[in-house]
Amino acid sequence: VVVLGIESSCDETGAGLVRDGRLLGHAVASSMDEHARYGGVVPEIAARAHVHALTPVVRRALDEAGLRMSDIGAVAVTTGPGLSGALQVGLAGAKSLAYALDVPLHGVHHLAGHVAADTLEHGPLPDPCVVLIVSGGHTSLLLVRDLARDPIVHLGDTLDDAAGECFDKVARVFGLPYPGGPAVDRAARDGDPAAVAFPRPLTGPRDAPYDFSFSGLKTAAARWAEGHARAGRELPVADGAAALQEAVADVLTRKAVTACRAHGVGTLVVVGGVAANSRVRALAEERCGAAGIELRVPPLRLCTDNGAMIAAVGDLLVRAGAEAAPLDVSIDPSAPLEFAALQPRGRAA
Ligand code: ATP
Ligand code: MG
Ligand code: FE
Repeated sequence: VVVLGIESSCDETGAGLVRDGRLLGHAVASSMDEHARYGGVVPEIAARAHVHALTPVVRRALDEAGLRMSDIGAVAVTTGPGLSGALQVGLAGAKSLAYALDVPLHGVHHLAGHVAADTLEHGPLPDPCVVLIVSGGHTSLLLVRDLARDPIVHLGDTLDDAAGECFDKVARVFGLPYPGGPAVDRAARDGDPAAVAFPRPLTGPRDAPYDFSFSGLKTAAARWAEGHARAGRELPVADGAAALQEAVADVLTRKAVTACRAHGVGTLVVVGGVAANSRVRALAEERCGAAGIELRVPPLRLCTDNGAMIAAVGDLLVRAGAEAAPLDVSIDPSAPLEFAALQPRGRAA
């Protein structure tokens, strides 16, 4: 069965087509540029952009796969978490297609999509594996078994800001363009990570081993920048970016490897937009290599929000014989991650 996946939880409109774990085609449109002058995603603008982008994106994914609308055998869609207006647009489109084509509809948890993204590149996930989700809205360490059937175990989460949010906010303070993550990564290339001693939050012996905190790091970076401004000195942005990136990568990879060791797990999967960060990737590779842990990181285009990852979850659900969602399924903007299939019924959106 060819599964169409639709993603619209934030500022990317994505469509992907997956059959039997294989990616057949996908396309993404982003309204990122429209948000740039506000320094963050504006929900109303995002929702409107999805309305314009959805049909062309589905069409492009079909063209890339060499398939027709009538080849679609199931539709999977992100029903949460995310911006409610944005989610509504994707869900309305998915329902229309499922109804018109008379095929089953599956509601998918956005973060389960990020987890499944890696299967499109590296094949089925080993059971169990530890997954580090690092994105603009989330920083979570998970113990994942069978994604289509078993509940996901939360080992830890961020207590305040997400890692991506920290990159985005500090980038603003450093005068780097939006979105901040990629800009910090680029700026850090010419910097010295040892030039500034930024803190490593929650890494003390009495701290929760798998929880994260990035707001203190953000404040430390802002103070460092203010210090230069007060002294009338030019800000060494490259050094600040390199040191910030080093601190984030250090904390993320240290905790992820500890989680693998503690649970006797041989595979670490790093997903989400921040998995695109070059230092996070390099340090994860180094530390997993030293610990004898297999590291899996999907390619960049599958790390950030896309429809292929939602189709990947839909494909797993279809093959596991999961029950389809009713056509009155609603969105759940703050859905907790427990199961990959997200099908709240009879709840006001
Ligand atoms: P969520 O998935 O939690 O709802 P999101 O959709 O905003 O959040 P993604 O699209 O997965 O998250 O990732 C976007 C985030 O990744 C942004 O915070 C962005 O700055 C960050 N990011 C992207 N590339 C890089 C990079 N090279 N280095 C650091 N951060 C990056
Ligand atoms: Mg995004
Ligand atoms: Fe995301």
